Amino acid sequence: MDKEKIVELSRNHVWQPFTQMKDWLDEEPLIIRDGEGCIVRDMAGKEYIDGYSSMWVNILGHNRPEINAAIERQLGRIAHSTMLGLGNETAVEAAGLLAEITPASLTRVFFSDNGSTAMEIALKMAFQYWRHVEPEAPVRDTFVSLEEGYHGDTVGVMSLSGIDLFHDVYKPLLFRSIQLPTPYPYRSPYGPDPEECRRECVRIAEEIISENCRRICAVAMEPLIQCAGGFIVHPRGYLRDIAEICRKYDVLLILDEVATGFGRTGRMFACEHEDVEPDIMALSKGITGGYLPFAATLTTEKVFEAFLGDHTRTFYHGHSYTGNQLGSAAAVATIKILREENVIEELQAKIALIGKLLKMFDGLKHVGETRQCGMIGIIELVKDKATKERFEYEEKVGWDVVKP
Ligand code: PLP
Repeated sequence: MDKEKIVELSRNHVWQPFTQMKDWLDEEPLIIRDGEGCIVRDMAGKEYIDGYSSMWVNILGHNRPEINAAIERQLGRIAHSTMLGLGNETAVEAAGLLAEITPASLTRVFFSDNGSTAMEIALKMAFQYWRHVEPEAPVRDTFVSLEEGYHGDTVGVMSLSGIDLFHDVYKPLLFRSIQLPTPYPYRSPYGPDPEECRRECVRIAEEIISENCRRICAVAMEPLIQCAGGFIVHPRGYLRDIAEICRKYDVLLILDEVATGFGRTGRMFACEHEDVEPDIMALSKGITGGYLPFAATLTTEKVFEAFLGDHTRTFYHGHSYTGNQLGSAAAVATIKILREENVIEELQAKIALIGKLLKMFDGLKHVGETRQCGMIGIIELVKDKATKERFEYEEKVGWDVVKP
């Protein structure tokens, strides 16, 4: 289809995600046609570096021949069959590989198709787990999450969100959750020392969790770095401390590795940096190398076994495309590349280079701080370096910086 027709159709019919459509309609839309490696191209053939990996999903580059071939092979067999009442060969293979590469205690894999849903499943699993293991106890109806946390846009996970800009309007619809202070050294009320920031945030977390532990199903958090909340890198040791508190007060730990999984932080999963094994882990984004909407929620034998028994213990959750074969094939191919090409090891030189290059920005007038978490390089823009005053959202400074 020619460019003019596509632009016209886009203007007349497409509602873009997370976008003020008035602004979008005021400008010429940038529409992608193809891509290769880290490059995407628009309809005129102009190239752009895909610096945010198509919303942090693409981990191996666009148009990877091995993933293309795996999807094509799968297409020649079958594109999709339901998992409600049937298994499918490719999803089984993907589950086996996921169980192998995630922490050892995560052995059970529940498939879905996006990060929000993987987290939604984690919440339902945690809630129902407690109903089965302590049926006589008062209902545990509370989740604990972090300020500035982000776990997606479905109604359940929005209840855990700490980003008012995105989710404030829906508050009347949401269930109760308790939020822990985010350990954010650059903006810490306890001073800039990461160690002091960690200690204080952990102390407050323990106070809150110990006071409410009989009502809490789980603590749900992004490990190491809160991405959508402003790429807040936690001080070293914070995750391990929270995991210990969860064990001490007998609440589950859900780690949302949707953004951090599959090498993004320099290890296969962020929790490996602190030797933490969660009770439940949500994965999506990089799971298919950025090819197809696919997700998984993994849990332990202990949680899984609580669901075994008669129909009252069934986990009544599923989607039409649960375990879709094309997604499974892309996931299998992705995991094989990650393993066979030692991708995680190879990342270390790139991570060092990102760290070195980031330093170039440090002296600039509006750069408050640069920081890094593995392959994620962060430049925090501020209006005033001395006061750390932020730019107003309406000023759209971030947008101006990245605008082609
Ligand atoms: N969890 C985290 C940590 C995320 O960063 C995101 C998306 O950016 C999600 C969940 C939601 O994933 P999805 O956009 O696939 O629903």
